[in-house]
Amino acid sequence: MSSPFQKSSISSPLSPHNWHSLSIRDIEDILVSNWQRGLTPDEAAERHKQFGANKLSHREGRNPWVRFFQQFNQPLLHILLLAGMIALFLQDWIDAGVIFAVVLINAIIGYIQESKAEKAIAALAASVTTEATVIRNGEEQILPSEDLVPGDLVKLNSGDKVPADLRLSKVNRLQVDESALTGESVPVDKTTEPIDEDRPLADRVNMVYAGSMVTAGQGQGLVVAIGEATETGQISELVEESGTLTTPLMRKLEKFSWRLLYIILGLAAFTFAVGLGQGQSWVAMFKAGVALAVSGIPEELPPLVTIILAIGVSRMAARHAIIRKLPAVETLGSTTVICSDKTGTLTENEMTVEAIYADAQEYTVEGTGYTTDGNILFHHRPVDLAETPGLSACLRNGILCNDSRLEAGELLTVVGDPTEGALIIAAGKVGLDSSSLNAAMPRLDSIPFESQHQYMATLHQESEQPSSATSSDSSHIIYLKGSVEAVLQRCDYQLDVTGEETSLNQEKIHQVADEMAHRGLRVLAFAQKRVSSTKTKLEPEDVETGLTFIGLQGMIDPPRPEAIDAVKNCQSAGIQVKMITGDHGSTAAAIARAMHLKTGEQFQVFTGKDLESMSNGDLADAVEAGTVFARVAPTQKLRLVKALQNKGEIVAMTGDGVNDAPALKQADIGIAMGQIGTEVAKEAADMILTDDNFASIEAAVEEGRTVYQNLQKAIAFVLPVNGGELLTILASVLLNTALPILPVQILWINMVSSSALSVPLSFEPQPEGLMQQPPHNPNRPLLSGSILRRIGIISLLNWAITFGIFELTLNSTNNESLARTMAVQALVAAEIFYLLSISQFIPSLWLNLRHKSSSIAYAPIIGIACVLLLQVLFSQWPVMNLLFDTVPLTLSQSLMCLGLGLPATILGSILRQYDPL
Ligand code: ADP
Ligand code: MG
Repeated sequence: MSSPFQKSSISSPLSPHNWHSLSIRDIEDILVSNWQRGLTPDEAAERHKQFGANKLSHREGRNPWVRFFQQFNQPLLHILLLAGMIALFLQDWIDAGVIFAVVLINAIIGYIQESKAEKAIAALAASVTTEATVIRNGEEQILPSEDLVPGDLVKLNSGDKVPADLRLSKVNRLQVDESALTGESVPVDKTTEPIDEDRPLADRVNMVYAGSMVTAGQGQGLVVAIGEATETGQISELVEESGTLTTPLMRKLEKFSWRLLYIILGLAAFTFAVGLGQGQSWVAMFKAGVALAVSGIPEELPPLVTIILAIGVSRMAARHAIIRKLPAVETLGSTTVICSDKTGTLTENEMTVEAIYADAQEYTVEGTGYTTDGNILFHHRPVDLAETPGLSACLRNGILCNDSRLEAGELLTVVGDPTEGALIIAAGKVGLDSSSLNAAMPRLDSIPFESQHQYMATLHQESEQPSSATSSDSSHIIYLKGSVEAVLQRCDYQLDVTGEETSLNQEKIHQVADEMAHRGLRVLAFAQKRVSSTKTKLEPEDVETGLTFIGLQGMIDPPRPEAIDAVKNCQSAGIQVKMITGDHGSTAAAIARAMHLKTGEQFQVFTGKDLESMSNGDLADAVEAGTVFARVAPTQKLRLVKALQNKGEIVAMTGDGVNDAPALKQADIGIAMGQIGTEVAKEAADMILTDDNFASIEAAVEEGRTVYQNLQKAIAFVLPVNGGELLTILASVLLNTALPILPVQILWINMVSSSALSVPLSFEPQPEGLMQQPPHNPNRPLLSGSILRRIGIISLLNWAITFGIFELTLNSTNNESLARTMAVQALVAAEIFYLLSISQFIPSLWLNLRHKSSSIAYAPIIGIACVLLLQVLFSQWPVMNLLFDTVPLTLSQSLMCLGLGLPATILGSILRQYDPL
């Protein structure tokens, strides 16, 4: 058969084949690969050059033009457009020009901000790369899935995302969720036999397609298509990745804008009527209406919200929390309960076997960490394996019933599950070695570990007849390891001190295991069963009963020190931390105690079994009261989250496995582990921890709270400017005076001065005492009582300053342009001083004087410097004088305006005492 890989052959992706109807042998030929050893690294490199990376070229979600025009679809801009129209109608060319220019600039800025933020978030989410397990030249390696080429042999595990289209060559109870491609939500059982050519995609059970999720079992297959050539790649209307850029707060802001629109239109109509009633001209009233509309609109607010959220996202990323869904940034700030996994999140996930129970006696293991230094001791003396049949069987089981391996480097590292790594290390201390043992007793089949079932089993060939074999033809052996409960319930016998089988003494074993667990050790039990040599396949039924208990190994997994501090921070911030684990209750409780998971009182421990038998009502009380939830199956997590949410809690929940996905989706903040987490969990999560560390959750909560505070500050800063302007216009119409500020001047203040002053608020650092406050209520309205009061008071002050200086100057000089210029400058000065009372510049300055180490929050000063420069241009530059109808000010006039702003700092600081933002 001619190979598509010969020099003369196609250079584009492989021509379509009916891969599913061909045998593995044929496929091997077409792909020029080997279904057992895969490609060689050289072949793979060659093909990578030929076929390129295994990725989909990025598709734009929405057409850029559509996105641009959507920027105009904001109530605030509608009013501005209307105002511009009126100005055109009145032949106010400069006004109309400025208004339309502002609308356009606003849309452009909004568009750029939005695309930048969207891109940044998408890039962050994409930075968590998908990995694939590939076999090249018979050796297993983990590679970014982008590096896969046609012909590669890929291994699949429960929880993996299928990295390319594969023709399966080996399956072990493999189940795949193909709903993304076929819409069928029930996972499909996979096989390897060739099937009819005309089967539709959804029924091609010997194929798996890129983007599907492995929900159970294991498998292997050859890559038949990558990137755009995959079935997923050929669907043009791809599901849009990560949600669009809206959050609850943005929606509230949008609602608020509409309300504001009606208020402004109402006020405009009102002033129009009053003005006409007072005998003012139509034209003057139209102008006043335009001024009113322009003044009331906080144009700078929506882009500011986007900037604040984007900065929050990048700060979280710097602290190891990658946001996948933007609303999570806000929700994090209101989190009231964090439900965390124990192993690896609260603890180091660096397991060391410390105690072994076998031969009816307890051994101790020397040395901590990943080192085979040290020995296994009995009564302080090194053991002799020849005299301890139980111990050697227990260690051998630990090595053989194991899917992980050690990698030698400067330090030993575990590739796979640290729990299993610890077992290899422990056996290594007495000279038992994984590769020679595996060569002597090859593995025939296995049932992989799953949290749900709490055990793992393997079937092995035994090279020599063991002396204690019960019957002469039984030369295959099953090894089982798992939680004490899961193993003992399957055992009928136990090994006695001579290595013979005797009846099982469950009570004694449970007692020893409990005692180990109380010391905080994670306990694994080991068992075996001899079977006939005709047995080559292992099924769950084979390990239901009739096993022989061998022993226990207890391993220590120390708490992460930084997680202990993080737990303390959560507590002072009114956030409960609950531990959810598959581990034993006593082990979990010992660790929870060491980490002070609950202050003061004794905490309550519930097990999965306890929860199972509870009614929903009892469950709700239990989850509220409990701190440790042990032996919880992943599928029970969903019920836990729902119960907490019914109690009104805002729940953050961690997870890593396939079965955690529903709970992660249900939680207000679903958190997946970046390192040990499966792709399924990551896909379901709102946030991914790159270091799997509890401390990073706490850090993200801090940043979430900071974001929320900065949003509040932005609102409290921006709205009083609009309020002051609105009151000024209203007063001038009602009192029948000239307009103290013209529409174009208002636009300048809102679009230029206020923007430059408010952007620094998005960089505000985390304030002191942030984690001593309770979580904020997400149902609180955008403008709560205290913030409304603040906006009202500062608006009145702004009005008094603006209107006052205008009237004063007008009366003394009779120069409207001068009076207006003074009014604008005084209002901007008031903004500057008000900003100083809101921002953290001054508090951070004090703090820096006391502790040299703390840094000063300079951002507002940069903003203020820019605005001062701009305002000088505004009044002193002839071009600006023409455009904005301003006049140059003398130095004393300028200083007078600046001085008028001072009360804003005083009033702002007083308000800060009453209700800190
Ligand atoms: P967690 O991750 O919350 O600590 P797991 O579900 O991983 O809990 O583990 C539950 C129990 O299953 C453990 O207490 C241990 O006894 C057992 N166990 C853990 N890992 C393995 C494994 N790789 N093979 C067999 N049993 C295991
Ligand atoms: Mg685990």
